[in-house]
Amino acid sequence: MQQNTSELTSQAETLFRSYMKAEGLRCTSERIDVLQEIYRADTHLDADEIYVRLRQQGTGISRATVYHTLDLLFRINLVTRIDLGHHHTHYEKTLGVANHLHIVCQRCGKVSEAASGQLAGMVESLSAEKGFTLGSFSLQVFGECRDKEACAGRAAGSAAD
Ligand SMILES: [Zn+2]
Ligand SMILES: [Zn+2]
Repeated sequence: MQQNTSELTSQAETLFRSYMKAEGLRCTSERIDVLQEIYRADTHLDADEIYVRLRQQGTGISRATVYHTLDLLFRINLVTRIDLGHHHTHYEKTLGVANHLHIVCQRCGKVSEAASGQLAGMVESLSAEKGFTLGSFSLQVFGECRDKEACAGRAAGSAAD
């Protein structure tokens, strides 16, 4: 389902740089750092996690730059926004990743991903009917794990966030 990570990262970087240039915005190395961090990750990250990771790597990036860059990346469909029920937004790369469904446990927070090929087709034609060109989309459904024991274990072990 996923292409080579470094290939995708440089593809995303090229798109981002040309967008920034067209908009007359400066494509600072900090903004590229944000893009690279999200394209390296194989998981859903929130802005704070990205900020902490970049800080740990010794960059002097600010939270505001992380948020602003994520907004820009979302605007050009290089990342999508996901609501995993944590009262804050998670981000996920879009290039090389097929649209998929997130199934979220409301008790322990476990996130499962399911391919949604048919669903993607439906969303696309519904958007077209309304006169929209589809950008990225992300779909979440919420429920509870069936394996109560594993769920309870994870719920006990997971830090509140
Ligand atoms: Zn996902
Ligand atoms: Zn659960």
